[in-house]
Amino acid sequence: MLVQQPTDSIFTQLDTFGHKKVVFCSDPDTGLRAIIAIHDTTLGPAFGSTRMWAYKTEGDALNDVLRLSKSMTYKCAIAGLNMGGGYSVIIGDAHKDKTEALMRKFGRFVKNLNGEFITSEDVGTNPRDMEYIRMETQYVTGIPESLGGSGDPSPIAAKGVYMGIKACVREQFGNDSLTGKSVIVQGIGHVGENLVKLLRDENAKVYISDINDERTRQVSKKYGAEAVSNNSIFDIDADIYSPCALGATINTETIKKIKCGIIAGSANNQLQDEHVHGEMLLEKGILFAPDYVINAGGIINCYSELMGFSKKRTLQLTENIYEATRNVLKLSKLENLSTTDAANKIAEKRIADIKKVKSTY
Ligand code: NAD
Repeated sequence: MLVQQPTDSIFTQLDTFGHKKVVFCSDPDTGLRAIIAIHDTTLGPAFGSTRMWAYKTEGDALNDVLRLSKSMTYKCAIAGLNMGGGYSVIIGDAHKDKTEALMRKFGRFVKNLNGEFITSEDVGTNPRDMEYIRMETQYVTGIPESLGGSGDPSPIAAKGVYMGIKACVREQFGNDSLTGKSVIVQGIGHVGENLVKLLRDENAKVYISDINDERTRQVSKKYGAEAVSNNSIFDIDADIYSPCALGATINTETIKKIKCGIIAGSANNQLQDEHVHGEMLLEKGILFAPDYVINAGGIINCYSELMGFSKKRTLQLTENIYEATRNVLKLSKLENLSTTDAANKIAEKRIADIKKVKSTY
């Protein structure tokens, strides 16, 4: 049973995050309950994935979609894309509640936004679901390659994370080789598994952990990665911690335990509190690659699909994540800012600059 939040808290939250629009989608026939959040459209239409998750409360779903959509604004800005930030969440268990009708109904809600919001897959959704949405609206990417889309964006997302990890390793060790470096990958789903492959291809020592034991066993065997329990990952003295599951794994409790000098992973919103925990990491001397900077590969892949770019161009844009990460780390060092504040400053400057361009003729 979902717990209802007080209605006035919704507007307080919108003010806090600075959203342009939030759409609540409800359809009793299909059981659809979803929220589409449009954060900022200065750079272009709001771009963001659709997550399906069995949130404990409606408040949790709202909070997630507001945080995710805001970070999309920053992600698109820092990746140099002409897109704004949005996101959507469907409340429900993806294994039990998802149907063609539910996804297509959701597609109708996206259609009604007339291109103000363009979506793609995320946790709990896949290319097949994007195909269902595509049956109702053109404002969706990440549809299967067989249908002329770019397919699963996860391998490109993993490539971007890998480039971000290398940029951090260069900052800390003087060169970006991953050979012999140790990495904990938490969450070995679509992105995590592809990342494990890239890391093992460069002879990194890889530890993996996932709540899905069967998957952990399979990935461990396939790539020669060491499986560890989720409870013990912070006891491991590795060089890099790569969160690739869900957000908020970096908080006051875990920062006390983390032994790794670098945190760089794909999960969105890894810091429970962007400012507080960003500062704590800075003080502790842990190099944190802001998630939205290094996990932009997925959205770059979708953007390329939208713009009709080649695979080569997509890869080039994704490899630029290396330089984007270095720029963030440089500014952080120069101005003694947390890496998150440094990244935000770079993203906000681009949005402000382009706003001026658009305000003139
Ligand atoms: P996924 O659902 O394929 O994989 C997530 C994995 O994490 C699953 O194997 C799940 O069992 C595991 N997991 C869940 N909770 C866990 C926990 N507490 N501890 C350990 N493992 C846990 O999702 P994905 O597509 O690989 O995305 C992973 C993260 O990266 C998400 O936060 C997503 O928003 C982000 N991301 C994904 C993409 C993409 O292209 N798929 C792009 C950018 C960012």
